[in-house]
Amino acid sequence: MTKATRQAGLDRLNARVREDLSYLTLPAKSWVPRQTHKGQAVRDVVIIGAGMCGLAALAQLQLAGIDNSVAYDHAPQGLEGPWITFARMKSLRSPKTLTGPALGLPALTFRAWFTAQFGADEWDRLGKIPKEQWMEYLVWYRRILDLPIENGVRLLDIEAAAEDLVALRLEDKAGTRTEFARHLVLATGRSGLGGAYVPDFLDGLDPTLWAHGADDIDFAALKGKDVAVIGAGATAMDNAGTALEHGAASLSMLIRRKEMPQINKMTGIGSPGVVHGIRYLPDEWKWKFYDYVAKAQTPPPRSSTLRVSRHPNARFYLDCAVAGVRAAGSRVIVETSQVPFEVDFVIAATGFRNDFFDRAEFASIASHIKVWGDGVYTPEMGTAHRFLVDSPYLGESFEFLEKEPGACPLLSRIHCFNDAAMLSHGKLSGDIPAVSAGADRLMRGIAASLFNADREEQFKALQNFATPELEGDEWTDSTPGLKSKNKIAS
Ligand SMILES: Cc1cc2nc3c(=O)[nH]c(=O)nc-3n(C[C@H](O)[C@H](O)[C@H](O)COP(=O)(O)OP(=O)(O)OC[C@H]3O[C@@H](n4cnc5c(N)ncnc54)[C@H](O)[C@@H]3O)c2cc1C
Repeated sequence: MTKATRQAGLDRLNARVREDLSYLTLPAKSWVPRQTHKGQAVRDVVIIGAGMCGLAALAQLQLAGIDNSVAYDHAPQGLEGPWITFARMKSLRSPKTLTGPALGLPALTFRAWFTAQFGADEWDRLGKIPKEQWMEYLVWYRRILDLPIENGVRLLDIEAAAEDLVALRLEDKAGTRTEFARHLVLATGRSGLGGAYVPDFLDGLDPTLWAHGADDIDFAALKGKDVAVIGAGATAMDNAGTALEHGAASLSMLIRRKEMPQINKMTGIGSPGVVHGIRYLPDEWKWKFYDYVAKAQTPPPRSSTLRVSRHPNARFYLDCAVAGVRAAGSRVIVETSQVPFEVDFVIAATGFRNDFFDRAEFASIASHIKVWGDGVYTPEMGTAHRFLVDSPYLGESFEFLEKEPGACPLLSRIHCFNDAAMLSHGKLSGDIPAVSAGADRLMRGIAASLFNADREEQFKALQNFATPELEGDEWTDSTPGLKSKNKIAS
């Protein structure tokens, strides 16, 4: 395909998106009364994060006529999220047919975007979606929907401007500023409510000797080096594969489990029932599902595992729990439940955690947020997995709830639309498959909240509305002659 042919296809798709939206009379007309605070315009919704979840949420709000909404992301445009930053896989794990953030519009799917440019035959030939192409699709999605997003803007702090108004301290290259929002959506991603999970034993180790799997790693510097990767998930394989492709001398996968997980359990029961039903399970059943999934663990993709194992200098060590690490000159000794390993560099592919206290921007609200460990979880429910115990216990539209009722009412205006919502809502705000359902649930909650909060103004608007549908000349009133004409003999 030439560049011009691709562009022509894309132009046709863009026209189709516009036509589809106009057939559905979308976006809905703007309906939320504007507010000011201390003379400054108030946003109805501010979204922090313009990765996939932030985009879907913003698009859904805009289409619903909540157009005084905006998203901010500190990443430069086109570099939001993991896809072409720290993601080290070649392609997405998800099947190419997932509709992701399309919001029920066929023309907004990855398939439509791909087919418009490369044709149906190429679509049939496509295996998994290359991660670079997924990022390009997200960039297109943002453009075609003309989403109001500012990049290079970081959220520094959240405060209560009033009980129902969030004050956000933002920073961009011009300096810091405060903005007010009636609702705040935290679409801050997988590490968004905490950060990387790093096992304690790595605490004292010189940072030149190790990295977390989501760090910016200088793989070129690992050429000729002995590398150990802790973990057996997708990130572990992707980092190991990348190190090997950069010429690592040896690669040891240190895997705690006796066997590799082989079955992706939750994918197996994927259905609209799961998407819409998890939220309404009793708490003990939510725990039961995710406890089971946590114990079964998600296997790394087959292609990522083969990417590692095809290298003769890669070794998989199972039942090999890491007990500690120590520096030995410029090398690292990794003590394990089997034998000690001596390597040059350690990569901890140990995932993320929910720890609001670790993020400066959440410092003012962290202590008020109710988590599952605050009396919801009981040992009878299952294993006390740390990341589940620390998960926020969320309300109907992803809003935080207070630990102490009345201590921080502002939390009802702050929505946790990221991976940490999984235990309360199912996977509607992290992975690709159900993000549109998540954005819809979020939008409905925010729309209802705004309408209720503005009920007096909405009622006044109802009273003031005076555009006649009937003009008065469509009929004549026959009542005046009624008595003389219609005399019924009694
Ligand atoms: C390596 C990797 C591979 C994955 N592959 C798949 C897959 O194949 N299939 C699947 O379904 N899921 C996959 N996922 C899971 C999920 O789809 C992605 O994590 C996805 O990026 C989630 O989108 P998001 O918008 O929640 O987060 P992100 O895409 O991470 O976006 C969050 C954004 O918030 C911004 N941000 C955070 N804090 C602030 C702040 N204080 N101020 C301003 N901006 C801020 C960040 O810059 C970032 O751009 C993968 C995840 C990873 C990490």
